[in-house]
This record gives sequence, C-alpha cells and structure tokens, in this order.
Amino acid sequence: MTISSHAGYPRIGADREWKKSLEAFWAGKIDEAAFLQQQQEIRLNHLRKQQAKGIDLIPINDFSHYDHILDTAVMFGIVPKRFGYEGGAVPLPVYFGIARGTKDAAASEMTKWFNTNYHYIVPELGGAEPVLAENRPLQAYREAKEKLGIEGKPVIVGPLTFLKLSKGYAAAETDEWLHRLIPLYVQVLQELAAEGVQWVQIDEPVVVTKLSEQDVERLGTIYKTFAEAVPSLHIMLQTYFESIENYRDIVSLPVKGIGLDLAHGQEGNLASIRKYGFPANKVLGAGVIDGRSIWRADLNEKLALLDELRKTVTDDHLIIQSSCSLLHVPVSAERETKLAAELKGALAFADEKLDEIALLTKAVSQGADAVHNELNAAAEALRVLRSSAARNRRDVQEAVAVIAAQEPNRNKPFAERHAVQQAEWKLPLFPTTTIGSFPQTAEVRKARQLWRKGEWDNEQYEAFIHNEIDTWVKLQQEIGIDVLVHGEFERTDMVEFFGEKLEGFAFTQNGWVQSYGSRCVKPPVIYGDVAFAEAMTVAETVYAQSQTDRPVKGMLTGPITIMNWSFVRDDISREQVAYQLAYALRQEVEALEKAGIGMIQVDEPAVREGLPLKEAEQAGYLAWAVKAFKIATSTVQDSTQIHTHMCYCEFHDMIDSIEAMDADVISIETSRSHGELIHSFEQNTYKLGIGLGVYDIHSPRVPGVEEMSGMIDRALRVLDPQLFWINPDCGLKTRGREETVASLRNMVEAAQIARNKY
Ligand code: GLN
Ligand code: ZN
Repeated sequence: MTISSHAGYPRIGADREWKKSLEAFWAGKIDEAAFLQQQQEIRLNHLRKQQAKGIDLIPINDFSHYDHILDTAVMFGIVPKRFGYEGGAVPLPVYFGIARGTKDAAASEMTKWFNTNYHYIVPELGGAEPVLAENRPLQAYREAKEKLGIEGKPVIVGPLTFLKLSKGYAAAETDEWLHRLIPLYVQVLQELAAEGVQWVQIDEPVVVTKLSEQDVERLGTIYKTFAEAVPSLHIMLQTYFESIENYRDIVSLPVKGIGLDLAHGQEGNLASIRKYGFPANKVLGAGVIDGRSIWRADLNEKLALLDELRKTVTDDHLIIQSSCSLLHVPVSAERETKLAAELKGALAFADEKLDEIALLTKAVSQGADAVHNELNAAAEALRVLRSSAARNRRDVQEAVAVIAAQEPNRNKPFAERHAVQQAEWKLPLFPTTTIGSFPQTAEVRKARQLWRKGEWDNEQYEAFIHNEIDTWVKLQQEIGIDVLVHGEFERTDMVEFFGEKLEGFAFTQNGWVQSYGSRCVKPPVIYGDVAFAEAMTVAETVYAQSQTDRPVKGMLTGPITIMNWSFVRDDISREQVAYQLAYALRQEVEALEKAGIGMIQVDEPAVREGLPLKEAEQAGYLAWAVKAFKIATSTVQDSTQIHTHMCYCEFHDMIDSIEAMDADVISIETSRSHGELIHSFEQNTYKLGIGLGVYDIHSPRVPGVEEMSGMIDRALRVLDPQLFWINPDCGLKTRGREETVASLRNMVEAAQIARNKY
C-alpha cells in the first residue's frame, strides 16, 4: 500500500499563536509551566490537524521552541561555555540564551538554512564533550502516541548535515567529531527502536550540495553503523531543496528509505532514477508536492509523475510526500478572505498541501477515478489563474520581450562616465553618504498606522513625512554629509512598499512564515505580470531635494531583491519575473531622473540569497540577475550616478558579477566580515566606485573616529582612493536618533582625517 507523509509542519500556528506564546514567555507574562503547556497544545493541535487530513505517517519532533538545529545541539549537550551549562537536559533559559543572548553572554551566530529565508542557530562545537542530554525525539514520539494514538515518524537532523552546519572545529577534526556524535545518535535510535518506533526521518540536506569523496565515505560509515546498531528501525534518509549529487552512492546506503525532492530537484532526481533505477528493497519517499511554493499543484501532472515512478518502484515501496518541510510556506490559505477569487483558488499553503498529498495517495491506491472531482477542481483553479487578465498583460510581455533581447548597457564605460560625473557633482575625495533609511521611530510608525486606518488624511500624513524629511535633511547637512537621502520614512518595508505600488502583486492577511525564532515574515505574492503604474518615490525624493543644495540620492529596491523576498508565480521562469520587475523599476529610475534626481541607488541586498545550490546553475542565475539590474539602471544619462547597496555576505565568489552590474558606486558591509572582504579585493581589483561600510549599524554602540579611520586605512590598502566612498554598512532605520547623529558625526570626522592624509 502506498502511504502519505511529509517532511515537517510549520510551527507558527494559523494565528501565529506559537510566536505569541514565545514572546509572552520572553516578556515574563507567562511562566515556564504555562509556556510549556501552551506549546504542547499548539503541537498537539497541529498533529490533530494532520491526523484529520488523513496523513498516514505524521512527522514528529519537527516542532521546536525556536529552531531544529539548536534542538539538535542541545539534545547532545552542545552548549557554548559562556552560558554556564552544567550538564543534564538543557534548561529553557539556557536554550533561549544561546538563541537570543543573555545579559552576560552573546547569542550564537544565526545563518540562512540553505537557500531558504529560514535561519538556524549555528552550533558551536569545541566546548564540553557531547553527551545525550535528552532524547527529544523519543519524548515527542511518546507524547503523540499517548495523547493522540499517533504512530509518529521522529525527525532528526543527520550527523553529516549537523556537522557541516556547525562551527568551532577545524576541517581536519571532522572525523573526530563524527565519531563523538555517531554513538550518541545510535543511542537515540536504539531508544526509539526499543520504544517500538517504525520509521525515523533523518534529514541530510547536505547531500544535494557537492560532496567530497571523504564525505561520501563518511555517509557510508554513519549509515552502516546505524544499520548495524538498529537493524529493525526504518530510516528514511531525507534529502531536499535540490536533486542529489552522487545519486548512486546515496541510494545504496544501508537505509530503508530515501526521500527525494521531486519538485525543485525533479529534473536531476528523475533523470537519475531513469538512468540508474531505484533499489528494489528500498522505499522511495517521493517528494512530489513542492514544499516551498504557495501554489496549488497540477495534480494530473503529479499523477503522471507518480505513474512513471511506479514503473520502477512498487506501490508498497512508495510514500507520497512533500519535497521538503512545509516550514517554508504559510499555514492555511483557507483564511484568506480578501484575495481575488482567481488568486485564492490557486493557493495551497501547508494545510492545503497535506490535502494534495492525501489526494494523490488516494488516487494511487484507488485509481484516479476515485478523486475525479478533486482533480478537476484543481485543474480548473489553475486554469482560471493562468487565463486571468493579470497574467496576460500583452503590454508588459511584449515590452519585456524586446528589452530582454537587448544587452542593457550604459552609453559609456565606467571610466568615461566617472569623468563626466566628477565634473557634474564636484564631490570631495572620499564622499560621505548613508544607505537610505533613517530611524523609524515609534512616532513614525504611529503616523503610518493612523494614516492606514484612515484616521489621518493624506495631507496630514504627507505633512508629517515632510517634517521628518526636513529634520533629517537639516541634520545631514549640519553633520556635513555629501550625498543626502530622504530617509525612507514612508516605507514600512523595502519590498512591501514597492509591491503595493506595482501591479501584479497581492498581499495576504495571514501568509506568515518563520524567518528565525519567533520572527515571521509575510512576503508579498507576485501573481501576475508586474507593471509600473505610477511614480513611487519621486514625490518624497524631489521634496527632499527641494530642501537642499547638496545632491539627494533616490532610493529604490532592486528587481532581484523584490523577487527573492516575495512568493513568486511559478508558471513563468524567475528570470522572466525579474525582467518584468526590472522593466517596471526602469520606469521609476527614468521618472526620478526626469524630475531632476541625478543620483539613484537601487538596493540589491538579496542577490546572493537566490544563488542556486547547484554550482552548475549559479553562473546562469548571476548572469540574469546582473542583466535585470542593468535593465533597471542602464538608460540614464552619463552624468546620472547609479548606486547600489548589498548587505553583508560572502562576496568572494561573486565579485565578478557585482562588477558586471556596472553600478557607478556600490556600498557594502565590511565591519563584521572585514578581513574576508578586504582579502577578496586584494585578488580582484574592483574598478568602480565603492563604499565599504565603516561601521556596523546592527548595534546601538557609537563607534569612535579612530576605529573608523582604521577601517578606512585598511580598505585603502587595496582600493583606489579616487573611487572610495565612506558610509555606514546598512540602513539606519533600526537605530535611535541620538546614536545615529553621533555615529555619523564621527564618520564625517574620519572622512576629513582621511582627506588630509591621502
Ligand atoms: N535602503 C535600505 C535602507 O537603508 C537598504 C536596506 C537593506 O540593505 N536591507 O534601509
Ligand atoms: Zn544593507
């Protein structure tokens, strides 16, 4: 019999009750007992829901109070020394201390979970010897069984993935660490087997990345040890986010099941199955329902895919599941009451995906006729959206086709533009500027709310915004900054702001997903062809410019960042969506220029987030990402200075692409990853204008002049002084006013010192 399962359920709850419970606990509004009670209720509710939807094999231990990687670390007593942990089950205050910091100890680092927008807490190895502090999967299994009679599938992060994501050890110590961890895993698995657990899902997403020969050997060691220690336990080795490299090695590991991503990884994985088959003694976890898309699946297509798989895999060796954990999609589309019917009908969030999985399973076991009506309904919903006016904008499609066929270059190469711009702007050596936003105080947020609720009319709100702009234009002038910004007071969020003004976007009421800890984001939905409707930033920018003689830099969010921070339609390629966005933004750039704004910054902090996991696909992505940026920015006059901004990230593998964007000036973070970034510039002389952030805006601390001077000196060892700008490393919207002014004063003083010196 074919059964249904999936790889994990969202924690946050349909009403974000999980988030609320966490925050109430952190604020001291509820005590630990009440917190644990609430968390259990949420967890059990989620299990009940999955039970009701007819999921046969329900994952457990996918729930967490914060993050599953942190859970794995504390399960093994891996707690950095500074938290004063003394063994045994890790107490909640220590657990949250690692995640969020305490008054005495800094939090552990947080970083992106593969190419998703979920962030995990990076385990720090190297402290005390790991031990099995607490068998969390076992607790979760007992709870589900006792309370709900569920025969759950404990989910555990696999040893290789856990090690690869951890820090605090040298590469040469990998095997040592593995041999410390393997016995602990064995203990967990043995206790599970003794309890009667049938299936365990062990997540090893690292196998979709390029593995070294040694890593393949390590996998062999790990899973052979497990197989020998717990022969009765069915291990589902779960992979996701892409097709697996080393297909033959992976499918011959001694485990009962292999979970494959047949959505994002469909092409590669299917090709491997076609070419090499699938071992007859193994169960295929067929991840046919895309765990990262918010769209309904084309179920007929999925059934055809399953039919193909069934030629290789017998029905009793087939589990129909999601391609990855449903953590990456919102909980339930049912509660969206304000979306257009054509859009709402085509959405499938986590709960709807469970329905799809159950439906496909039924179709496989009873024949497609048994679910005939549901299949038709799904096909019809997709047809309606596909044929909607929003997805068939000929004006957009034709214009974008013409533009995409051209090479979007500026009129002149940078060196020539640079001369024209120097003559035009007459900026001093080491011009100073900021990244765009100024403090979004409680007052600013309040004003926006009042206006949104209709309690303030447009004039009132505009007057308020103008007043903020006035204040900050004066401040910037007085501090002595060379290139000013208006401050972005009218924006809640750099993507939402543009999404609300462009056509082709929709906003959900409840489409939240967990980003890190209790922090959730509600990405806009790009569901139609994207089109420019009217100027979005011209009024505020022109107003700011009217208040000063110094240049005011216009401020836009770039096409790739808007796309990577949204849910994107999947009926056309992301490349096409990016070009549509770029074309719309080009019209805004042109409108700004026409209105007399001669410096325009197009932020692209999220370019790297979209980088495909597969090395072979990275160059292609970067090429069209660069092209999209250039489509948006290349039609301006030589004297118009295009800026861009990217936040911190590992640029070493991207410098060529950044250069290819051909922005006259780029500002990037260096204060936190200083050494590395400077190092990459040593090997690759960057030939365009560049501002390396001279101070970290993520902390309220006011950096001293000397500290920033040191930063500038170090950067100038590898960068051309004629092309160097001085700026903070990101926008200042999260900072307070006093500290911002004090920091910027010091920054301008450091620039002055540098001018005298070079
Ligand atoms: N212009 C934006 C700001 O200053 C850039 C934010 C970002 O890089 N994430 O807020
Ligand atoms: Zn930034």
